[in-house]
Amino acid sequence: TAEIIDGKAFAANLRASIAEDVAAFRDAAGRTPGLAVVLVGDDPASAVYVRNKGRATREAGMESLEHRLPGSAGQDELIALVEQLNADPTVDGILVQLPLPGQIDERAVVAAIDPDKDVDGLTTTNAGRLANNMDGLAPCTPLGCIMLLKDQLGELKGLEAVVIGRSILVGKPMAQLLLAENCTVTIAHSKTRGLADVVRRADIVVAAIGIPHMVKGDWIKPGATVIDVGINRTADGLVGDVDFAAAASHVAAITPVPGGVGPMTIACLLANTLTAAKRREGIA
Ligand code: NAD
Repeated sequence: TAEIIDGKAFAANLRASIAEDVAAFRDAAGRTPGLAVVLVGDDPASAVYVRNKGRATREAGMESLEHRLPGSAGQDELIALVEQLNADPTVDGILVQLPLPGQIDERAVVAAIDPDKDVDGLTTTNAGRLANNMDGLAPCTPLGCIMLLKDQLGELKGLEAVVIGRSILVGKPMAQLLLAENCTVTIAHSKTRGLADVVRRADIVVAAIGIPHMVKGDWIKPGATVIDVGINRTADGLVGDVDFAAAASHVAAITPVPGGVGPMTIACLLANTLTAAKRREGIA
């Protein structure tokens, strides 16, 4: 039977090691790394995410600066806030919690973020850096997935990886990170023909779709490693995009939902904030 990849434990270790690095940063730089989180409106799910991010940031010994704007806020007002945070030397990372209210163009807001403070890795500058093997900031969820895969498999070179989903937030950067590890990468999506057979080639399956249990057990090659990014609220509680029970009978390892990729996302946000702070201070 499959090994269950304990993302929660891995994330806890990562957060502890980040906290140690934060202490070293404080000694070297004489200041604390700061993450600014901007929440517009009062969507309850977004409020929970922002609260959890703030708590994790403080637990790692970093400064959490929370900014709230009313749901009626205009785009110019939000961009002015982003520009103020860009210019603030105590702010190393800026995260604008998405989704934004309909009157605001998300692309325009993301584009206003200084790429060197873009800890969500969503600016086109950071997407370009990732595609060009340059130092940048990669989106947190795929970064967490690649850490789990390297921990699980060691060397990823030459493995067949199939990523299902092509979003800017998850699928595309995931494919870039796997390519950078010398995997042979296929990106499947909603228009892919014969998805089951595409997935059957994979040594590594990353599912980032948003449809509960869409990936069936018999699509997955025996001995493959499965990373399930999906978070779907159903009558049976939170489930992933992979039929976990069916896959677990024959894969080598699989992430559970919850407790797999989810906890890695916040840990990688902290990692990116520390990375941004070190680069700004010229600390290796
Ligand atoms: P998205 O809706 O932006 O993208 C979904 C992708 O799935 C699209 O690229 C689409 O082409 C593909 N897709 C849709 N239907 C398909 C089908 N029938 N067959 C094959 N591909 C299909 O979603 P996203 O932001 O990339 O998120 C994907 C999932 O991951 C969601 O469940 C989301 O909640 C979850 N998520 C989890 C975390 C985490 O921290 N664990 C972070 C981000 C997203």
